Amino acid sequence: MTVHDTRLAGGRVFLHGSGLEDVDLLINDGLVSGIVSRDSDAQAREVVQLDGKLVLPGAIDPHVHLGKDIRVPKDPDDARLETASAAAGGITSMLVYLMSGEPYETVVPGAQAVMEADSYVDFGFHICVGTDDHVHDIPAYMREFGISSFKFFMNFKGEEGAYLGLPGNDDGYMYDVLGMAADNGAMINPHPENIELVWKLKNRPIDESRGPLSAWNQSRPSFVEAEAVQRVAYMAQITGASVYAVHTSSRLALEAMERQRRSYENLFIETCTQYLTLTTDADCGTYGKVNPPIRERDDLEALWVALAEGKVDTVGSDHNARHRSFKEKDVWSASAGFPGTGGVLPLTLSEGLRRGVPLERLVDATSTRSAKLFGMYPQKGTIRVGSDADLAVVDLDGSYVINAATQHSGADYTPWEGTEVPLSIVHTIVRGQFALRDGQLAETTTGRYLRREHSGAVALAAAEHEGEPS
Ligand SMILES: [Zn+2]
Repeated sequence: MTVHDTRLAGGRVFLHGSGLEDVDLLINDGLVSGIVSRDSDAQAREVVQLDGKLVLPGAIDPHVHLGKDIRVPKDPDDARLETASAAAGGITSMLVYLMSGEPYETVVPGAQAVMEADSYVDFGFHICVGTDDHVHDIPAYMREFGISSFKFFMNFKGEEGAYLGLPGNDDGYMYDVLGMAADNGAMINPHPENIELVWKLKNRPIDESRGPLSAWNQSRPSFVEAEAVQRVAYMAQITGASVYAVHTSSRLALEAMERQRRSYENLFIETCTQYLTLTTDADCGTYGKVNPPIRERDDLEALWVALAEGKVDTVGSDHNARHRSFKEKDVWSASAGFPGTGGVLPLTLSEGLRRGVPLERLVDATSTRSAKLFGMYPQKGTIRVGSDADLAVVDLDGSYVINAATQHSGADYTPWEGTEVPLSIVHTIVRGQFALRDGQLAETTTGRYLRREHSGAVALAAAEHEGEPS
């Protein structure tokens, strides 16, 4: 008789198709090796009692930036501290953006080595394309590195991308990028903002009496985002590309995508925890400065409706470990972006359940859908025999307070400082190993690089082919 490595006993396990089930999970060699009844006599070297806690597919953060200058992870801390933040929040895999003006064959191996040396979670990369050579090399990046999703900054016109070493681009460049993605089964993740509108609006008077986040939102209103989303979604249809709108923040942007979806289906929507939980009234000051800006209450409500209806595909963080010293300035001088990967699952799950959003939708948005869209399913994103044993064990009777210490990030602050979360992440298990156990991070890290053959429509078709477990 097989003796399994681990038996997770007494949990309520989320299984696709049937929801929460009172079953035990068996893990062997990093994989789910059995889903058995409570009275099964299956043997394991270690039995962990879960006492009715929830066992969910490990969360996947599809949107992370690492590195103190956010372009590329370079220092050991970039990997260790920021993936610790993720693991403490139930994340088991993350997709990290690499941003460079150099050819990526000179960038990817170093970033991969830094991450593999000390990452708590599994990780893959998105590549940010900005030069003609990058576009030409998309097939090579897919083949050599298993990277199948590519970011493109629609707002990098003129000198706007110089801080990342990227030249200015235009809609003709976007057309080439989308065409190359369509031809190769890749997906494009555009940063959708119309920078010409931002430039124009800079000189408009702004009412600063409602605080810094309102002022920042007034300077980049949501139609700036919506116009860009609509344009790239339209061009996706023309070129046949899959397009994934990152960090969707507003009702107008949602509506723009919905309009385009009526005639073309390969359009996908990501939002981020901050747009689901913070508004311009939040008291986090310039710590909450980000692009696109934190919006109004009406936008937040629209995002929750769309998430509940399945119109929002994924929730990510846009995690950015920008140190607090870059944030403690007035709103016009402070850096944009903040750390958030640790909050994706706890905040989305707790607020979603409070609002009556079905657990199935919340699991899909925080795990399964990202796995399917980015070519990781069914290795990731589901609990079934043969899948990686990537699990988040959640105590719905627990609670904790978000602060810089519970977030572990090198950034040393969080916009959610002082927020009470009415649940807790007890264990985070990555391929059968405890990255977080009883709320404590492990000493050793085991994160591995994830190759992803295709993303977008081609990856979804492959995921459908896998079917659902019976
Ligand atoms: Zn980002």
